[in-house]
Formats: sequence, C-alpha cells, structure tokens
Amino acid sequence: MSIIKDFLFQLTLVVIPIFIYYTFITEKVKSQKNKNIIMTILWGISIIFCMSFPVNFGDNSRLELRIIPLLLGTLYGGFWPGIFLSVIIILFRLSFGISIGFYNTVLVLLTSLPFILFFQRSFSLSKKDKRVKIAVGLSLFYCLSGLTIFCILRGFSYDFFKIQMVHLFLAVVVTWLFTILIEKIREIHQLRLEVQNTEKLRVISELTSVFAHEIRNPMQVTRGFLQLLNEPDLPKVKKEYIKISIDELDRANEIIEDFLSVGKPSINNIAKIEVGYQIERVVNIIRSYSLNHNVEIRTDIQDNCWIFANPQKLNQSLINILKNAVESMPTGGRVWVSCTATDDGFIKIIIKDQGIGMTKKQIDRLGSPFYSLKEKGTGLGMMVSFQIIHSFKGKIKVNSEKDKGTEVIILLPQIN
Ligand code: ADP
Ligand code: MG
Repeated sequence: MSIIKDFLFQLTLVVIPIFIYYTFITEKVKSQKNKNIIMTILWGISIIFCMSFPVNFGDNSRLELRIIPLLLGTLYGGFWPGIFLSVIIILFRLSFGISIGFYNTVLVLLTSLPFILFFQRSFSLSKKDKRVKIAVGLSLFYCLSGLTIFCILRGFSYDFFKIQMVHLFLAVVVTWLFTILIEKIREIHQLRLEVQNTEKLRVISELTSVFAHEIRNPMQVTRGFLQLLNEPDLPKVKKEYIKISIDELDRANEIIEDFLSVGKPSINNIAKIEVGYQIERVVNIIRSYSLNHNVEIRTDIQDNCWIFANPQKLNQSLINILKNAVESMPTGGRVWVSCTATDDGFIKIIIKDQGIGMTKKQIDRLGSPFYSLKEKGTGLGMMVSFQIIHSFKGKIKVNSEKDKGTEVIILLPQIN
C-alpha cells in the first residue's frame, strides 16, 4: 500500500509544473524561447523532486515516475530540453554514488532517449490523437527497457517484477492522462487567443468602416481633379508629380479596401464555386503584374473541385498571396499554383514561389496587422487572406525557407 502512496506522491510532483506553467507562464512570457527554457527548468525541478522521494524497495532499488517529466519535457520542448533533462537525471543519480542503480539509470537512458528524440519531430508535427499515441508508446518502451535492463543487471525476482509492473502501469496511464491534459489546456489557450484576435478585428473593422467612407470621398474628388489637371501640354516634371499623386491616392485607396474587408465574415454571397475556375481568373488578373516582375505563373489544376465560398473574397485572398509570391522574387522566377482534392475531403490549393523566403520568426508574424518588410508594404494582405480562409472554415499553412522559397497551402472543405 505504501508503494502506491509513494507513487501517488510522485504524481503530484509531476503535475505541479504543468499547472504552474499554464497558469502563470504562458500568458506572461511572450517569447517562445523563454517559455521553453522555463518549462524545461520546471520539468527539471520535477525530476529532481521525483528522484529525491523515490519508491524504495528491496535492497537499494528505487523507482520513480521521472520518465514523465523527461518524456513530456522532450516531446514538447525538443532536442536540447531532452538532453538537459537527461543530464539532470544522470548527475542527480550520480550524487547517490556509483552503484548498480546508477548503471541501470544510464543504460535505460541510453536505450530510450534516442527513440524519444527520434519521435519528437513527428510528435511536434502531429495532431492531438497521434501525439497521445506517440507519448504512450514511448512511455511503454521506456518502462519495458527499464524492466529488461533491471532483470539483466540484478536477476529476476517475482516481488520486484510486481513493483515494476505497478510502475509500468502507472507510468503509461499517467503519460496518457497528462498528454491529454496538456493538449486540452493548449487547445483552450489557443481558442482564447483566437477569440481575443477576432474581438480585436471586430473593433478594427467597425472603426475603419466609419473612417473609410469619410476619407474616401475627399480622396476621390482630389483624384478626379488631378486627372483633369493632367493636360497634354503640361511640362514633363509636372506630369510626373501628378502621376505620383494619383498613384499614392490609389495606394491609400487600396489600404482602405483591405481594411474594409477585415473582420467582415462573408456570410453573404456564399455560393457553390469551382476552385479551378477561380484560380484561372485570378491568375489572369495578376498576369500583367507578374510579367512586369519577370515572373512566370504555372498552374496545375484538377477539375471539379467544388467548395462553398464567396468568390470575390476567395479571389481577393488568392490575389494577396500570389502578389506576395511575385514580389518575393525581385529578379524574377516562377510561381506554381496547384489545386487538388485530398482524400480526407478538402480542396488543397498550393501557391509556391522561389523567392526570398522567410525565417521561422517571420512566418510566425505573418498575418499580424501591419507586419511588412516591404518599403511600400501595408502588412494587411496576409491578415486579410488568413481571415477570409478561416471564414470559409478553411486552414492555411505556410512553409518557407530563407532564400529558397515559400509555399502557402490552403485547405478548404470540399462539397460534392
Ligand atoms: P505586404 O505584402 O503589404 O508587405 P503582407 O501581409 O501581404 O503585406 O505580407 C507581410 C510580409 O510577409 C511581407 O512584407 C513579406 O515580408 C512576408 N511575405 C509574405 N509572403 C511572402 C512570400 N511568398 N515570400 C517571402 N516573404 C513573404
Ligand atoms: Mg502583400
């Protein structure tokens, strides 16, 4: 009984970092790197506590649930947190002296850590259900290798085997529960951020629609008069000034356009549309712009890809993305646009360029208002595109590599 009690105490030690992190840290700390460092330290403390209050049995044998902080810390943190936590385990075990138990610890780590690190990448790319499976599988593997190495080093004993089984059972069940718990908390957190974002956008949209109409009228009037001033016998330099003024007014108008479409879900004008047809149209619209930039656009379109959407909005988002693709290649190049139906009921549009690409940090900032690295950029194009795709219950993902190119993948629910 006391063994179970000891294991339950270990559980408390493992759950505390999770709650500290998600209650106090995620909201306060902004940089992902700092968050990672803090989380790793919390898991490290959890490991030290687990190892300080182990479940003792037999002659100098001990078991703890340290696998859980090690596993969750590595899976959610990555390579270096994994190495750091393993070093903590080894150093802390070493402080008890070099014994058979120490060798046991090192051997178990040497066999299981490579596997954990190997699966970490696919864990970070997977969805919730698969993550739970990976975590449980790795936990099971760790316990089994622990059990095998224990038996090899110290021989088999039925009593110890029973305790090892309790450990295995608890470790696996707790890994399962905690991974689900962390996933759930992350999901709620994400949802909250999204709600906050939508709320911000709603306010922006209300404010701008009021301003926009007021500003547009005088702008249109000015533009009209500028055009009237533009007589054929005007000196060249004055003509140039007029052209610049008109261009700038048009640019301001474009910004207002973008603003106006922010925050307005496209409930109206939703229709059944064929994505391929819309892509052809968009490519035609942007063709002269792309030729000016020495960019060739190639399409690969599957017929009969139907979705429910507002065609103007869809086109607007595609144009924004295509324009970025063209602008990312200052010396020209090629853009590929493809559209296919996936097996799981989505229409997948891929827009790929060979441009300057983005770093991970830049990708993360993509879609935030006014984030632009261009001299004349507005930083609204991607924000609007993200919003439009989400309003059609679609998903948008950006893969990019600096100096190699960018790939924007849009998934939209297919209808038949
Ligand atoms: P803008 O085009 O007005 O700058 P966007 O919201 O369309 O605003 O894009 C924001 C920023 O994201 C751009 O300034 C650019 O730095 C980056 N970006 C977007 N698409 C790409 C791309 N295909 N390749 C490289 N960088 C891109
Ligand atoms: Mg843009």
